Amino acid sequence: MIELPRPYSRSDLVALYEQGLSVRAVAKRLGVSHPMVRYDFQRWGITQRKGKQQSGKANPNWRGGVIFRRGWKLIQNPSHPNSTKTGYVAEHTVVACAKYNLTAIPKGKCVHHINLIKADNSPANLSVLTNRQHKVAHEHLARLAVELLLKTGKVRWNEAILNYEPTVD
Ligand SMILES: [Zn+2]
Repeated sequence: MIELPRPYSRSDLVALYEQGLSVRAVAKRLGVSHPMVRYDFQRWGITQRKGKQQSGKANPNWRGGVIFRRGWKLIQNPSHPNSTKTGYVAEHTVVACAKYNLTAIPKGKCVHHINLIKADNSPANLSVLTNRQHKVAHEHLARLAVELLLKTGKVRWNEAILNYEPTVD
């Protein structure tokens, strides 16, 4: 059976569903047929709410929760495979999954912020790496940065303070 490529990922469906939308409303929002979305809910193992559904803030699942931990933005999304026991998942995880069309960040991999700014979760700033690649990238950047700063004279040794200091502001 040939399946059409989906213009959405599992996490897109989960995110919309977590907002309290019905399966039918999710399909309408995405501009696709509702049997297609119902099928994807089943094959992607997205648990559906039982009984009558309330939308938006009336839904008990909806908390609109956003919290910050160690510089990371976490959003409430208990259905996401990478969510913690308290139902939060890092925003960079959700964005990276959407960028690479993944249902989850696999074990042994992580999301790297290319410009090192943890709060910048734009897709272009995120890359999914193995833990090893991630360590190598950070070490390589540190070496490059040190070399460049010393070579270009942007950092110099100050014998008075027995430490390095910037030569430019
Ligand atoms: Zn990193």
